[in-house]
Amino acid sequence: MLKLLKIKKSQKIEHSQEIVDAIEEVQETISPNIEPELPQIKLFISVDQLAALKDADEDRRNHAQIYLNDIKVKELNSPLLPAFTDKFTKAFSKLGNVNRQCPHCRREYTSIPAQIKKCLGCGKGFYKTKRPQDGIEVLVKEEDRELMKLQWENIKKAELIEGMNLENLERARQKLEQKHGTRHTLYDAHFLLVKRYVAKALLSGRFRLYCSLMYYMTEQDRFSQNFAKALGYYFYLYYLHHNGASNSVVFGDRVMVNVRISKRIFSLLQMAKMQTIDCEDFFKDSIESLTVFDFENMPYSIDETYAHLVKSCEEAEGRKIASVTQEKKPKDKMRSFRLQR
Ligand SMILES: [Zn+2]
Repeated sequence: MLKLLKIKKSQKIEHSQEIVDAIEEVQETISPNIEPELPQIKLFISVDQLAALKDADEDRRNHAQIYLNDIKVKELNSPLLPAFTDKFTKAFSKLGNVNRQCPHCRREYTSIPAQIKKCLGCGKGFYKTKRPQDGIEVLVKEEDRELMKLQWENIKKAELIEGMNLENLERARQKLEQKHGTRHTLYDAHFLLVKRYVAKALLSGRFRLYCSLMYYMTEQDRFSQNFAKALGYYFYLYYLHHNGASNSVVFGDRVMVNVRISKRIFSLLQMAKMQTIDCEDFFKDSIESLTVFDFENMPYSIDETYAHLVKSCEEAEGRKIASVTQEKKPKDKMRSFRLQR
């Protein structure tokens, strides 16, 4: 493991322009976080930002080492991973009936007019759609409509870095196939390209950029249906965003977690019929195994971040209790907020 120089944490650097840049230009519809108290941290990056990583800067490098204990992409390690994988495998199982039969009573249909909403045999609701596992048109029970929607949502195409040269990416993909003799997608090539910048982003103290790189890689895990692994990485990203990961070699920017991260977590959990309150240990394991930062220098602990996640999903998960005195709190008060189980 890399031996890094330890220096006492110094004063935070003021870089107001970088903080302004950190804010996502386009505000998305807010879900599940209902009340955005702060601007969202920026998530998407362009190839131009990668180019900036070529310039070595000794000051940044020295300062970054205060925070770092590693510069690699680590493996998610949790005894709960098999159980979570199993939940997701079940949640992503094929829905519907391919044989033009009612999914309830198996009454046969020669053709399904679009307007049929209820079975002529048993009277129960169903609808016609394509399923994500094989693209086959199926008849699905009405009560599975939401699950089907979530299955599609969770295999949405992964994001690519803006301005990526697709021809170069295609060449990289072909090289991968020649090397390994197996099928590779553009996203596989993208994943490896992104991974190459991780150490540079960390060593130059561009922690927000590092989060973005990790996000693009996590997208690939999700897109490849490694849902449990992707969830663990999204948890880690939630932790880093909540801690205000900055490109100014600090944490503590006054920003909120990018809504895309919250949405990904929420959609995955919903598909597996889980809530944030079911994930405390997996959340902690994920962050403890994935982090490259020393916990002592982070504004918020894992427990505090977990409490924040649980709180932000409380309404969307139907756990909100009416009129509990939850006024907006200043930051130092929020820091002492602990989850009560
Ligand atoms: Zn029927």
